[in-house]
Amino acid sequence: MLKLFAATIDEPRFSLPLGAPASPLPKNEDDFGSLRTFNGKVESQHTGRDYPVTEGNSVRAVAAGRVVLADEHFLTGNSVYIDHGDGMVSASFHMTSLSVKAGDEVKRGQVLGKVGATGRTSGTHLHLGIRWLAARVDPQPLLDSPLHLHDVGEKAATAERKEEKARVEPKESNRSIRRDDEG
Ligand SMILES: [Zn+2]
Repeated sequence: MLKLFAATIDEPRFSLPLGAPASPLPKNEDDFGSLRTFNGKVESQHTGRDYPVTEGNSVRAVAAGRVVLADEHFLTGNSVYIDHGDGMVSASFHMTSLSVKAGDEVKRGQVLGKVGATGRTSGTHLHLGIRWLAARVDPQPLLDSPLHLHDVGEKAATAERKEEKARVEPKESNRSIRRDDEG
């Protein structure tokens, strides 16, 4: 799989913010990087975000790209990996069924499959993961308007006030995208 991620298209085919992977997209409980226990012991760190989308809803491509892998895996169930160019690969897991296959070119918003609970999961949800230049990054800030990004230690309320202010006096943002890989 790492070989697949390395063989990325050069030109970016995505734009930020990324498209929603489901519509409507329910709120996620901030689980990126959280520790996961199985049979009572900490086994892994969560490398994406889980969205409580109900069974049978469509899973959509967050950007245009090429499907590099669409298959059933033991842990992640029916999974789709898309190369969006410029080193970005998105992954959607646990689907009941897949509507694309490896090699397909997809458009932003194209249906990839249906939300389900395949693989090792405690219930129906959509898992979205993003690799960017091989790092596993938090998908949520990439789905939000850059106005929602907040600095380290900054409370959400402060970020909201800044957003209001930015609306009143628009000026160029020089903030970079947060990168939370797990090392
Ligand atoms: Zn997950």
